[in-house]
Amino acid sequence: MFDYHIHPNYSIDAEGTIEEFCEVALSKGLREIAFTTHLDTDNKGDDCFVNVKGKKVSTRSSLWLEDYEASIRSADEKYKDLGLRVRFGVEVDYISEIDGALPENFYSTEFDIILGSMHLIDHIAISATGRAEAAFKNYSMEELGRKYYTLLIEAVESGLFDIVAHIDLYRRFGQEFYGDGIREVWKLHISDLANAMRRFNVGFEINTSPLRRGQEQPMPEAAIINELHDQGVSIVTVGSDAHQPQDVGADITTAFLLLKEAGFSNISVFERRKAVDQEIPNHIV
Ligand SMILES: [Zn+2]
Ligand SMILES: [Zn+2]
Repeated sequence: MFDYHIHPNYSIDAEGTIEEFCEVALSKGLREIAFTTHLDTDNKGDDCFVNVKGKKVSTRSSLWLEDYEASIRSADEKYKDLGLRVRFGVEVDYISEIDGALPENFYSTEFDIILGSMHLIDHIAISATGRAEAAFKNYSMEELGRKYYTLLIEAVESGLFDIVAHIDLYRRFGQEFYGDGIREVWKLHISDLANAMRRFNVGFEINTSPLRRGQEQPMPEAAIINELHDQGVSIVTVGSDAHQPQDVGADITTAFLLLKEAGFSNISVFERRKAVDQEIPNHIV
């Protein structure tokens, strides 16, 4: 099993050290995991920090990336002989003003994988309880869909990312705000998105965190997974978006089943930002 979206306690909203996550992954029989701490970029928000050894450090500072990489590389050294590979990744908030919003050493850092996320509409986190509505109230459902997907396509075309995280994130709180119609807005934009993903060699992830929040579908939901397959997007990862060790590997089996139903036979793992195909296991743990 694989889990390619994990937040250790470098992320200010996560708990558990890198080693604690690795121990749980090992005990659950995972073969490969990627840590993807948040790299918030919007300095109008108050989330642009990481925790480094108990200190709050600005994400724009070059100080933390080396420490974060070293912790992951040493975990990989320790755990690879035990059967667990540990990859070095990051989840970057895409904003139009991203140039200059990343730490200086971001571009020279040899990540294994970079996730690109659209968490923000007008500087408001649409992924956060109690905040999303402040963004939604300024847009009709159609306008919100256009705004979100336009920015997401811009993110893909920036060339910064390997994987688009949780494609239909707006659904988390948007479904209650707008109603079920929000589940259809992707249809107008999916061809443009898939086209950009193919051109820029960008994949997507199946993010299983909604299944732990009582929702029936992961992000993106099955209809979008099927459509991306049919439109020739071939790079796909699976991730729990765990923010605490016990959630590592959660519902990855469900993600595999949805991928197989959509026609995928492989998932991708990453090393130094190169995707390598792995067959989706038949005997799913
Ligand atoms: Zn995210
Ligand atoms: Zn995440």
